[in-house]
Amino acid sequence: MSAAYNIAIDGPAGAGKSTIARALAQKLGFVYVDTGAMYRAMGLYFDRQGIGMDDEEGISRACGDISISIRYEDGVQRVILNGEDVSGLIRTEEVGHLASACSVYAAVRQKLLSLQRELAASTDVIMDGRDIGTCVLPNAQTKIYLTASVEVRTRRRCGELLEKGRQSDPAQIEEEIRARDYRDMNREIAPLRQAEDAVLLDSSSMTVDQVIRAIIAEALKRGLSPERIGG
Ligand code: C5P
Repeated sequence: MSAAYNIAIDGPAGAGKSTIARALAQKLGFVYVDTGAMYRAMGLYFDRQGIGMDDEEGISRACGDISISIRYEDGVQRVILNGEDVSGLIRTEEVGHLASACSVYAAVRQKLLSLQRELAASTDVIMDGRDIGTCVLPNAQTKIYLTASVEVRTRRRCGELLEKGRQSDPAQIEEEIRARDYRDMNREIAPLRQAEDAVLLDSSSMTVDQVIRAIIAEALKRGLSPERIGG
């Protein structure tokens, strides 16, 4: 058994997982692993190659040509796709949809599973995604299922886009969130669902700080050393 402490955070699109995980990692001195970014990089690759998201055979074949790795610059995760840092290119709504569409395939999930497990084996990590508590890290000491109402998630997503100077149509964003939730929850392999031993947190009416404190309280109950909580 490894000495690493693992915190798994799963939940639907726009629940605030990455904001929470990033802040929590900084507070605890853990490494934050954003698995969605890896699926986004895969989606970007297939799209660039002109492979349709419904072409499972083409996608499975192309998986052999892909090398994904991550590195950290000033504590910030960068995703490297075949030697190219694509971190800035993968944050669009479009790439989010490509990621969701290609992540249903076994070859795509298999490709990323070992990388994700390796990262968590010897390092204290906070890993977020859709299947971390159920599939990637079934033995994670702390598992959180973070959700929020569709209305709240839509509002947050529109706010984020506005901060980037982009106007959006809330009705369209809500429709996209619902479609992504549906696909992520209903796919055959590693669908999004709450692990049996995960704690459910609905952040609809919680602040970021309240969510962080709730997760730390849970981790302390599940063996996290109080010394980790510096400031
Ligand atoms: O979290 P993010 O929006 O970056 O994830 C993009 C997509 O990647 C998700 O909608 C989901 O389909 C897929 N994903 C996944 N398993 C993970 C993380 C992300 O299937 N562990």
